[in-house]
This record gives sequence, structure tokens and C-alpha cells, in this order.
Amino acid sequence: MTELKRLTEHIWYMPYEEERDRPNIGYVKGDHWSLAIDAGHSAAHVREFYELLEKENLPLPGITVLTHWHWDHTFGMHAVKGLTLANDRTDRHLAEWKYKIEKNGPQEFFAIHESIRKEYGANTEVIVKKADLVFSGKVILDPGGCTVQLIQTDAPHTDDSTLVYVEPDKTLFLGDSTCDDFFAGVKRADLCRKLADTIREINPEICVEGHWVPVNPEDTLSDLMNDMG
Ligand SMILES: [Zn+2]
Repeated sequence: MTELKRLTEHIWYMPYEEERDRPNIGYVKGDHWSLAIDAGHSAAHVREFYELLEKENLPLPGITVLTHWHWDHTFGMHAVKGLTLANDRTDRHLAEWKYKIEKNGPQEFFAIHESIRKEYGANTEVIVKKADLVFSGKVILDPGGCTVQLIQTDAPHTDDSTLVYVEPDKTLFLGDSTCDDFFAGVKRADLCRKLADTIREINPEICVEGHWVPVNPEDTLSDLMNDMG
């Protein structure tokens, strides 16, 4: 049974799951509204996340922000309440997949990995949605009593990474940015170094990667600089 975990004063998260390749979904509660970090793998994933929030009497997120376009972080977008916010490159990738799946059906998507076929049982529709709000560079959100920075950055995993830094809690959500390029299977050293510089500049105390438990930044940086090629 999955449980919502409290990480810091303003932050909770629904932990990742390997079987269906579900990433952590982050949640930040401000005094006026709250936001989610990543939309999850499917409508079912979103539903389970919201049930956990309701169980804790936490308000559903007014905005869901995306760390990158990959399906396990975004294909639940059509089921979220409120608005979705992504950088321009993430939105472009989503538009491509929306077009592809609407035109050709979901076969190409299902063929990517077994975990996807586990998330989407027979007859579950795959719906891809573009973001409601699109930014490039940097955005600062203020849900009340806490500042959240969205920082678009170079990273080895994809060309559309957004880091999400919850300032008063000194917590950085990295999505999968520290991992290798999923399709090419490479981890470009120059991009690893750029991302490492960005992380050091932000100087967080807690790092939340997409598919791992929260760790300290030294741990994240050593993972990032491992197996570069
Ligand atoms: Zn990814």
C-alpha cells in the first residue's frame, strides 16, 4: 500500500514504484494554494495520488509542474485538477507524442517498455495533453509562505529538463535529469558537468530524483558524475 510521505515543512510526496515505472510525485503546500511536481504515468496514477492527498486533508494542487516530457511524468496530465505548467521544449515533445498517438494509436508507445504495458491495462486509453502554461528559462511561483523556482537546465537525460527548487525547504526536485539518455543510452560528460554546476549553484540540502528516495546533494552529484561517456 502506497503512502504519502512528508519530507519537510511544505513538502509531501507519493513514492516511486519500479514495477510500473512510476516516479515520485511531489507536492508543495503553500498558505494560499498548492502544487504538484509531475503529473504521473496515467489517470490511475493521478487518481491514487489525489486519494492519498484527500486522506491527509490536503488540498488538491492548483498547478502541476513538469520536470520533463517522459510519459511516466506527464501522461497523467489529462486527469489533473487545475493547470499544468511546462517549459517550451517539454511542451513541444508532448505535442509530438499527442500527434503521433492520435494519428497512429498507442502501439509505438506501448512498445517502448514493459512497465508501460503494465501501467496501461487492455482498453485503457492513452491521452496526451499539452501544458496549459508554458515558460522558458525560469519561473518563480509563490503559493503563499514559500517560494518555488522552476529552472530550465541542460542535462544528460533529455533536452527539456526543469529543476524545481522549493526555497525555504532547501529541497530540489530533479526529475530524471541526472540519468543517461533513455533512448540513446549515453550520458554526455559535458551535460553532466553543466547540470552538476547548476545543482552546486542552487546549493540544496535535499535532492529528490524521479525514481529514488530523497538523498543529500553529494549522493546525487556522485550518481550524476558516474558512468559518464
Ligand atoms: Zn525520464
